[in-house]
Amino acid sequence: RSREQVIAESIREIPDFPKPGIQFYDITTTLLDPAAFKACVDLLVERYQGKNIDAVAGFEARGLIFGAPLALALGCAFVPLRKPKKLPGETIGEEYELEYGSDRIEMHVGAVKEKQRVLLVDDLIATGGTMAAGARLMDRVGAEVVEAAVVIELPDLKGREKLPSNCPLFVMVQKA
Ligand code: IMP
Repeated sequence: RSREQVIAESIREIPDFPKPGIQFYDITTTLLDPAAFKACVDLLVERYQGKNIDAVAGFEARGLIFGAPLALALGCAFVPLRKPKKLPGETIGEEYELEYGSDRIEMHVGAVKEKQRVLLVDDLIATGGTMAAGARLMDRVGAEVVEAAVVIELPDLKGREKLPSNCPLFVMVQKA
């Protein structure tokens, strides 16, 4: 089995979560399987080693889980991107639209510096709103987004079309 297959088979699908009609792709079962979790981190490390990455930015909550071991392996900074009012210091944030209302991600001012080469990491891209907000945030501080990386893409939702053209997307598994 390929590492992508090992990862794909480790993901649990939960119908009607968080609301009726929504299929939730649950990576906590990936985390229970050390071979599958390691496959995720190894695919990322092999892809970005030697690419002069200055920082890995991981989205709350599950992007933190995949981003932190990647940053350690690359020997670069790890930057948490958090929901509002979680970070204790001065923050810079970016809003994004949801189906009903809007949401916001924040990072600490100074965590990412101008000209730095940054990777955006999350567990899953759906509509792409979260990832696109991350890319805009990096653009505002003058950083370069090298790539956005996710374990799972839901291609039917066309999230990759929401990303700026200078932000490629790396995906391990596609689910429908
Ligand atoms: P988007 O902004 O619509 O692309 O949604 C992506 C964000 O919502 C990511 O931070 C994901 O962690 C979360 N998300 C949406 N759907 C799922 C799912 O089925 N499983 C896990 N996370 C999800």
